[in-house]
Amino acid sequence: MKIRLIYPRFKKFLEDHPGLRESLREYVVGDYTMPPSLALPILASLTPPDVDLHLTDDNIGQPINYDEQIDLVAISCFTPQAQRAYEIADEYRKRGTKVVMGGIHPSLCPQEALEHADAVCAGEGDSLWQTIIEDAKNNTLQRLYEPKIIYNLADMPIPKREIFPREVYKWEAHLVSTMRGCPVRCSGCPIPPKEGHLFRFRPVDNIIADIKSMPYREFYITDDTVMLPGKKNLKFLDEIMEQSQDLDVKMFISSTMMMVRNYDFYTRLAKGGTSSIYTIFGFDRVSKNLFSDNCSREEWQQCVDLVRMIEDNGIHFFASYGIGFDDQDRRVVDRILKFSKEAKIDLAEFYIITPFPGTPFGIQAEEENRLLHRNYSEWNHGNVVFKPKNWTIDELNRDFVTLWNEFYRDIQPQRTVRSFDMLTT
Ligand code: SF4
Repeated sequence: MKIRLIYPRFKKFLEDHPGLRESLREYVVGDYTMPPSLALPILASLTPPDVDLHLTDDNIGQPINYDEQIDLVAISCFTPQAQRAYEIADEYRKRGTKVVMGGIHPSLCPQEALEHADAVCAGEGDSLWQTIIEDAKNNTLQRLYEPKIIYNLADMPIPKREIFPREVYKWEAHLVSTMRGCPVRCSGCPIPPKEGHLFRFRPVDNIIADIKSMPYREFYITDDTVMLPGKKNLKFLDEIMEQSQDLDVKMFISSTMMMVRNYDFYTRLAKGGTSSIYTIFGFDRVSKNLFSDNCSREEWQQCVDLVRMIEDNGIHFFASYGIGFDDQDRRVVDRILKFSKEAKIDLAEFYIITPFPGTPFGIQAEEENRLLHRNYSEWNHGNVVFKPKNWTIDELNRDFVTLWNEFYRDIQPQRTVRSFDMLTT
């Protein structure tokens, strides 16, 4: 049996802002994208060895041969890829090739995806992939696959990252998954509806074995939930750091502003190899309060001190600021710039909030008839795709550009990449 995995192209979020891309070029931000999705090497590792598995990455311009004799095409996508994913699926199906879709977008709007696919896997595909292959083999593909069990991360194989050959992919870093699920329910986040509302932790030994199996020295921990201040999460991250400190690696951890304020904790993270914390200022309660009228001087200062506490431990603070929320207005621009200056942040990106389908905010925006269009390739955080409450569309676009330009006006380009070996060596 022959299967082709396809990773559809998506627009990077400054692609529609050529002026910004040009002015930020020396800062190596904006065009900065993550290594390719972890979903594909995970599926590859779960594929039976007798299956002839191939990958086409549309993002690096690999051509798609729609006339190829192939038993099943599997497309994984998130929302900015969905439009292209549908185009690819439609072309294959015109020629009679079966297509299955999965990933965040099809999981959150399976009925829409079913208009373009023979089958949709809604939710985590780990426990379903082998059944899908078997059904495709027997010509008994179902329309909708939904997990019947909660996948135990102890069963997670080491992802087969060899499907991204190093001579083709220049990345000297890769993604590592540590946990799934989240009970916090930030209203713009697809994780709780896709992965469930309970934390599930991958065994630490399994994570360390995964890190050791790779030829890379730099890693991105994909899950911001590791940094949430619950006891279990902190203990889990401490255990990872205890074991990673002997590995001579650098780690980039994602987080929200809901972080512990404990100096020693960040000392332990630094000792374990954490070199950067990528912090999303978005729907979480701390960052929402920070830029609101209700934020007291003391709360503001605590957030400034948190950034300094992280930086004083030698960990680079990377801020990712969202604008366009219903509880913000144009004053947020000055507040973000003021906060960045006081906290001495020298690496940041800015994004326009996007009402991803199936998230609480996405559902609300749709119910309020505020979606401007469904050209999903523009739903990439770099464009306004819904009617904002306290901005005109033009104002929100201008504020986005202003933030990028103003933030980087006085920052030395080399400061922004100080934690990235792969970019500086
Ligand atoms: S943004 Fe992070 S903390 Fe918030 S719901 Fe999503 S995974 Fe949970």
